[in-house]
Amino acid sequence: MDAHDMQDDLAQVLITEEEISRRLDEMAAQIDADHEGQQLLLVGVLKGAVYVMADLSRRLRSSIQMDWMAVSSYGSGTKSSGVVRILKDLDADLTGRHVLIVEDIIDSGLTLSWLLGNLSSRGAASVEIATLLRKPEALKVEVDVAYVGFDIPTEFVVGYGLDYAEQYRNLPFIGLLKPEVYEN
Ligand code: 5GP
Ligand code: MG
Ligand code: MG
Repeated sequence: MDAHDMQDDLAQVLITEEEISRRLDEMAAQIDADHEGQQLLLVGVLKGAVYVMADLSRRLRSSIQMDWMAVSSYGSGTKSSGVVRILKDLDADLTGRHVLIVEDIIDSGLTLSWLLGNLSSRGAASVEIATLLRKPEALKVEVDVAYVGFDIPTEFVVGYGLDYAEQYRNLPFIGLLKPEVYEN
């Protein structure tokens, strides 16, 4: 596809840059308050969580460490299957660590549910989840999420790290694409 103006593909802005920023302020304050005296290991899930990680972590007052994982859910297109493959594993040893998984979005919950089990089995002292977005109506499995930015409707969103066909991650807000973008 040729380079073009992303704005032309947008149907609607769902969450503005300012709204994201204000919500991250609140989430960071809560995380700081809940983890006084603990050094957190933030685990970002590539690639979608890159923006949330950068903007959430810089708002924390306490010193943290950061690591990254890349996983892929078997299954096609926009649906996740719950069968997860590790594409890039953590560098850090989790023994005794307080881990906070940082995610862009929880849809079915299958990926995070698997990840929670996987990281918990590595001897972490605690494993919690922070996600910018959650689609409560789409959840297929119960996942205990400590920090949620926004609950959103069951629609496919892009921007702020979230892609469609690896595009639109660099939109600074969360938006909906015009239907014809998917049809082309
Ligand atoms: P789950 O396993 O919870 O169904 O899905 C997790 C992954 O599916 C997310 O980390 C994300 O990569 C992708 N995903 C789920 N919903 C959306 C969405 O609305 N937009 C985009 N761009 N990706 C999504
Ligand atoms: Mg993700
Ligand atoms: Mg994606």
